Amino acid sequence: MTKSAIIIGAGIGGLTAAIKLADAGMLVTVVEKLDRPGGKMGEYRLDGYRWDTGPSVITMKHIFAALFAESNRRIEDYIELVPLDPITRYRWPDGTLLDAVSDQDSMHVNMRQSGFSNKDIDGYDKFLHYAGEIYSAVRLPFLERSQPTIKEILRLPVRDIFKIDALRNMHAAISAHTTNPKLIQLLSRFATYVGSNPFQSPATLNVIAHVELSMGAWYPRGGVYQLALALERLAIEKGVQFQYGTPCQRIVTANGVTKGVLVGDNNPLFGDTVICDADHTWAHENLISAASTKESNLRHKHHERDPISERSPEPSSSGFVMLMKASINHAELRHHNIFFCPQNSSKTEYSHIFDKLIPPTDPTIYVCATNKTDTKHAPEGRSNWFVMVNAPYITKYSNWSVDSIGYGQEIDSTMTSRFGLSGSREVVQYWTPNTFQSTYNGNKGAIYGISSNSRLAAFKRAANRAPDIRGLYFSGGSVHPGGGVPLAVLSGTAAALCAISDFDRYG
Ligand SMILES: Cc1cc2nc3c(=O)[nH]c(=O)nc-3n(C[C@H](O)[C@H](O)[C@H](O)COP(=O)(O)OP(=O)(O)OC[C@H]3O[C@@H](n4cnc5c(N)ncnc54)[C@H](O)[C@@H]3O)c2cc1C
Repeated sequence: MTKSAIIIGAGIGGLTAAIKLADAGMLVTVVEKLDRPGGKMGEYRLDGYRWDTGPSVITMKHIFAALFAESNRRIEDYIELVPLDPITRYRWPDGTLLDAVSDQDSMHVNMRQSGFSNKDIDGYDKFLHYAGEIYSAVRLPFLERSQPTIKEILRLPVRDIFKIDALRNMHAAISAHTTNPKLIQLLSRFATYVGSNPFQSPATLNVIAHVELSMGAWYPRGGVYQLALALERLAIEKGVQFQYGTPCQRIVTANGVTKGVLVGDNNPLFGDTVICDADHTWAHENLISAASTKESNLRHKHHERDPISERSPEPSSSGFVMLMKASINHAELRHHNIFFCPQNSSKTEYSHIFDKLIPPTDPTIYVCATNKTDTKHAPEGRSNWFVMVNAPYITKYSNWSVDSIGYGQEIDSTMTSRFGLSGSREVVQYWTPNTFQSTYNGNKGAIYGISSNSRLAAFKRAANRAPDIRGLYFSGGSVHPGGGVPLAVLSGTAAALCAISDFDRYG
């Protein structure tokens, strides 16, 4: 008999899981509260401008190519992934400008031109070599399989356990490779790609620098949102049904087994398997039926002796985003631009976001201008700025509904006064932690689920298979292997593979 599956949420993890399950011959229905696919990967258009509203840096192209290839399709028939050169233009308040590229020789030339010494270049190379070793050690056990247990990690070859470098923090490991404060600032920032603090998260996360700086970054022609549309198209071709504007109200279980979901006005939708792509914490608090929560609580009590599950995971950071119409298409901007805060404010920025839980007073500012690659994304001579700074998850210490406009104005004046970017900018949309919470059901507005601000972070992340409800699985950036678009694809694959193997086992 053909098995049926319901996916809650058409985020990247949910779309991937849908494709995988349909490929395995299942009848798949995706229910999504919004009226479009992609989840956090969205877009906005106004007055001849176009912006991506979520992810803008796409790394690990091979993961997307493999997803299409495993479905007997060629990715290039669905989407053009343009390699970005430079990947990012970095600027510091003292006027230093560095174009980061993945070709090592060109990077050396750029570093020299930007005033970095041979010692700095040597430190940078050694750091990237070290980060590449982390990648080769974590790729299989951590990224491309379902969540490993501590026992499984301890069974890895000893040299790989050392390479994973989980005992010191990211910042300490970076500082052991270079003493140049600008490079330390640049390399530490990769912690924020998963909503974490480089002073607290394990050095293992230095793998992110390798993934971007050595392997490169891509831009889906037409906008990052085209990637979501490409996955939706592939899913539809495989027979997946989409129900948009359909919030799931409950996951229904009986005797510890999933039966389906309730959607809209509590209409039942039956399914042998449910994969939940909504934020894991939010889903646990809102979707799991009272009966199964009771069951689940009992089991959690049983788990309480495990020191890892005792601590409640800290949400990742969130973000403050402005979509802006810029009156000038500045020649000195590239597709991705980072404007660093002064080096002596860098530690304060992290402490504001992760310790004090307040919007940083002098943040590092990211500007993405896709019109640098797709000229049609802004009227001629103008630019479509996506401006983002890192921000804390929602607590009583911030009040975005009151502070957003003033905070945005401060950021805009920094761009003028500190970095000399002239012209006027008009904000057409603000995205705050409140918006991320209400639009996507992100727990406390966190963008990446839980933070990695502890040595055991990888083990605190929820697994792809529910431990206590048969037939329930989780995908997306809030569960294993973690946040970011490529990892959301891996999570969707892992969740689907768990479901398929359970069918083989239990029928
Ligand atoms: C501003 C911003 C910038 C980012 N930048 C980058 C970047 O540059 N590079 C990168 O790799 N990553 C980036 N990310 C992170 C990346 O977007 C996410 O990690 C990834 O897209 C998450 O995918 P997901 O599968 O977890 O689904 P999500 O995108 O979280 O989608 C979940 C879906 O579930 C739906 N849903 C929730 N509850 C229900 C319900 N009850 N019923 C039905 N549907 C429901 C939501 O509406 C949503 O569509 C960024 C994110 C944001 C917000």
